[in-house]
Amino acid sequence: MPVQDKCLSELQITDYTHVYSTTSRVLILEDDIDQIILMKYYLKRSGHEALLARNIDEAWQQLNNHDVDLIVADLNLGAENGFDFLCEVSEKFPRIPLIIASAKQDFEILQSALELNVKKYLHKPLGEGEFQHTIDSVLNDSTPKGLRILAIGAHPDDIEIGCGGSLLEAKKSGAKIAMLVLSRGGVGGDASLREHELNDAAAALGACLYHADFEDTRFDSDPRLIPTIESVVRDFQPDVIMTHSRHDTHQDHRATFEASRVAARSVQTLMSYQSPSSTTDFKPTTFTNVTSVIQAKIELIAHYQSQVAVRSYLSDEMLLSTACYWGRFSKARYAEPFELLRGHFHSKSDETRVSHSLRYADIDSADSSAAA
Ligand SMILES: [Zn+2]
Repeated sequence: MPVQDKCLSELQITDYTHVYSTTSRVLILEDDIDQIILMKYYLKRSGHEALLARNIDEAWQQLNNHDVDLIVADLNLGAENGFDFLCEVSEKFPRIPLIIASAKQDFEILQSALELNVKKYLHKPLGEGEFQHTIDSVLNDSTPKGLRILAIGAHPDDIEIGCGGSLLEAKKSGAKIAMLVLSRGGVGGDASLREHELNDAAAALGACLYHADFEDTRFDSDPRLIPTIESVVRDFQPDVIMTHSRHDTHQDHRATFEASRVAARSVQTLMSYQSPSSTTDFKPTTFTNVTSVIQAKIELIAHYQSQVAVRSYLSDEMLLSTACYWGRFSKARYAEPFELLRGHFHSKSDETRVSHSLRYADIDSADSSAAA
């Protein structure tokens, strides 16, 4: 990660870009153990991670438990038909590219495969060179040119609570995520423990993490706040910034909002998430559907055990009921609310349709002053 800014380089920075940028996860659906070993070996040699499934049940388990970048599937799986599986995957995970690896060249299947997200048809036996070239070219062509979202939080766990579900959803549809956490949260708990928890959560999210070390509860008086956020904006080049709301009782949250608003003046979309300390003046205008990731959001927040143990607002019940409450303003069962200050927010994924159901004059005026 290039860090040229002097102010930023003085701060503590952690880089997790490798989590999503260098290794791809390839799911292999194959019932022949020799072929599995061979493909796993080829993938390892080209720097990719292999997830293995010997039948369709195992393949669904892998898909439900991991982010999968590519599927290589055999068609002839004993009593099961790999093509049926590919049809279902194309429907449920339209973003995942598919490769068929089969000993048979079935013209009819080839024709039908064109209607799915099948990118290549590999003929067995598989040679290492052809296999690796095919995998790399399909992965390369399918690399999401998605949104770049920078989430900014004053303390470890603020981001996950406010917009963790939206980030998880956006990640599914190919967005690149960065988190800028401005302090180590020493007033709210043990700073080194919270830092450890933050690292785990960022890795679980597959986010690039920028971690600064501003003094907890004292952001207001620090002139480096705006330049630090500007440095990260320059480095990550986000399309969307999600940050605190100005309608918040915590002084660090308000200071983060004000500094973000200035530092993000060149960023297309600026939106504020809700915190447990948000006031009743928090008036969301945009709601993201987080129904399919609500459990994953709870698991993300569970990385912050030191906080979950002592904060009632982090109980599963409170997280669920809050998301359920905001769902009533959109068509979603569970939603996260945002004050949209500028721009718009749409994920490519169908499951993440954003509902713009409310709009308030004071937020529009905040937008114009931010742009000034
Ligand atoms: Zn906070």
